[in-house]
Amino acid sequence: MPFIGFGTSQRGGRLLIVQGYSYSLVKRSQQMTQWRCTMVQPGTSKRCTAKVFTDASYAVIDAWGSHSHGKPRFVKRNNVFVRSYYN
Ligand SMILES: [Zn+2]
Repeated sequence: MPFIGFGTSQRGGRLLIVQGYSYSLVKRSQQMTQWRCTMVQPGTSKRCTAKVFTDASYAVIDAWGSHSHGKPRFVKRNNVFVRSYYN
């Protein structure tokens, strides 16, 4: 059972958290929403290429790619997860 939650990035954007990784919204359609991992590949400025797709109720229906980095840490503030630091 994947853990799914919502978080806030340090710049205030909305994040989807799935199994400890955080994703930002890429595009939304009626059938599905595409989310992209928010992390960069260590030592580079390239974004991680992992993606997830959810339905309108934020259930994960597909996942693509694999993560090239460790899981970020989260702290819970005012009932919202805030990403605190990388790796
Ligand atoms: Zn990633």
